[in-house]
Formats: sequence, C-alpha cells, structure tokens
Amino acid sequence: MIDLHSHTHFSDGDLSPSRLLSRAHERGLEYLAITDHDSVTAFHTLRAERHAHASKDTNPDDSSTTSNASGTILRLPQLSGGLISGVEVSCQWEGLEIHVLGLFVDVDNVALTTMLQQQQQRRRERAAAIDLKLQRNGMTGLGAYLDTLPCDAISRSHVADFLVNQGHSKNKQHAFNKLIGRKGKAYVAAGWCEFADAIATIHEAGGIASLAHPDRYPLSRPRFRRMVEDYCEAGGDAIEVSYSNLNPGSLGHLAELCEKHELWATAGSDFHSPDHHWMDLGKIRMMPAACRHSAIWHHPAWQQHIGKLPAIVSAGGSEGSAISDA
Ligand code: AMP
Ligand code: MN
Ligand code: MN
Ligand code: MN
Repeated sequence: MIDLHSHTHFSDGDLSPSRLLSRAHERGLEYLAITDHDSVTAFHTLRAERHAHASKDTNPDDSSTTSNASGTILRLPQLSGGLISGVEVSCQWEGLEIHVLGLFVDVDNVALTTMLQQQQQRRRERAAAIDLKLQRNGMTGLGAYLDTLPCDAISRSHVADFLVNQGHSKNKQHAFNKLIGRKGKAYVAAGWCEFADAIATIHEAGGIASLAHPDRYPLSRPRFRRMVEDYCEAGGDAIEVSYSNLNPGSLGHLAELCEKHELWATAGSDFHSPDHHWMDLGKIRMMPAACRHSAIWHHPAWQQHIGKLPAIVSAGGSEGSAISDA
C-alpha cells in the first residue's frame, strides 16, 4: 500500500512522526509521504533520529540500519519501501484557499524553507488575530493553549480543539461554523501565498506539485474547470485522484481530468488522527485503471529517487491493487 498524504503533530495531526510510522507499519504501508501543512519538520526529525541510530550501530554492513543524507527519501525499518518527503501548502487562488501537495521536495532547499517559514509566520499572526476576536467575545486563553503544542504550523483545527476543550463549542464542526469558519465571528483570512508561487517553489525544491483533494473546494463546475486550467498553466504536475471519503463518481471524474490535462495521479488518505476511522492510513480507493500510465510511480522523479516500482506493480499485480481498496 502507498499513502502520499498524511499529517503529524507538527501541523494539525494528532500523532508524533514515530507514532505515525508505527501505525503505517501496522497497516502494512510500503511508501508513505508525510505532508504536514506548511511544514517539513517531521522529515527532518525522523532523518535526525535515523542518523543518530545509524551512527550508534556497531555493524556498518547492516544495510537495514544505514541511511543516507537525502532530503527526499528516507529508508526506515517501519516501511518496506520508504518515507517520501512531502508538504501541503495552503495557497490562494482568486481569494479561495487551495491546498497544493509537494512530493519529493528537497527538505533542505532554501527557497522551500523560506516559503514555509513565511507561511508559519502568517499562521502565527492569524492565530493572534483570532485570539483578539475571541477575547472580545469573552473567550480567553487561546495564546497560552497554543504555546503548549508541538506544532510549528498552527491551524484553525488547533483553535477548534481549544474552543471545544473550553466548552465554548460543542464540537469542532460547530467551532468552524459559528466562530472560525468563513462565516464565523472570529474568522480571519490568512493571506496565503499565491498558487503559482507555491508551485514554482515546489519545483525549485525539485518536487512534484499535486492538487490536493480537488472535489473539496466550494466551487461551481465552471469555476472548478478554470481553477484546474490555471493550475496547469502555473505548472502543476499532478492531482490527487484518490483520497478519503471520495465518492466513486468523483474518482472517475478526476481520472478523466488527469487524462485530459495530462497530469500525473497521486493518492493519499489525508490521515490526521486515529479517531478519524474514515480517514485511516492507506484507506483509499484503488487507483482507477484510467490512471494506469499516469500513476505517480511512473513519474521520472519516482524512478530518480526510488529507482523501482512499488512491489505490487513490479510483481505484475494490477496497477490498481498497488493502492488498497477502502
Ligand atoms: P487552516 O489550515 O488553519 O485553515 O486549518 C484548516 C484545517 O482545519 C484543515 O486542514 C482541516 O484539517 C481542519 N478543518 C477544516 N475545516 C474543518 C471543519 N469544518 N471541521 C473540522 N476540521 C476542519
Ligand atoms: Mn488539516
Ligand atoms: Mn488539505
Ligand atoms: Mn491534508
């Protein structure tokens, strides 16, 4: 199984990188990409831990414990294939928030780290502005709560947790609807980087840009088509065709879109938390047959960084079966 979209506690996921890897191991994943919102800290952390572990190792010939200094792929005992570097960048297109995944990005690339620092700064400023609005409405303590978190990309999901914990909202959905969502009284727009800038930076870091969860944006059909055209024009390489909670009709539609625009196809669960059983690691629909040739493992970058196809594909299994059925 392959999962190219997941989150850790460095953004709004619940698990630490090592707990996420344990879960990936339990679920039998071959390749995993951690794609935290505007952060590549999980990859840095796991790479540093791996190096520390490898340098302590007394048997340098044991290839299962060696690791290279790559900023794009990390061989780890929990994954039969490896960890692929990734990020999910929050961008804007015509004032709407669009998420673009960067896969195989070099996590040490300066253009990338500069952009992510700016995005994290925007997140801190927005959280402070939300805090002020909440305080004016009698809800205090957000800043102190956020200071206790390990994340470097503060999101509204954390704010929603705070509001639920404090009893101001009965659940997270309610917190978004009434307070921090677009129509909420503590809503603050984030001023994300432009769509085209995010794609250019992902490319500068050697990565592949993939449009995340394309059917989750509040867009009419004509506007959606225009957004995808602009995405292609800006150099977008791929779209996610399979992800959690995607209905089978949309899967076919996205596969067609891939063919029409000659985009590569990626798939990932968007895992955030073990509590979200509908969004577990690897729990995604099979890559459709229409994406046989456009599946991301045929991309030259996959060959460059990994050098072989996923096990099930090279073993002659159907291309679709490389991704688990939900
Ligand atoms: P942000 O990136 O700060 O705008 O926060 C958005 C994050 O909050 C998303 O990545 C989701 O994980 C989560 N989220 C967005 N909308 C909702 C919602 N209605 N209910 C619960 N979580 C949400
Ligand atoms: Mn999220
Ligand atoms: Mn997203
Ligand atoms: Mn995501």
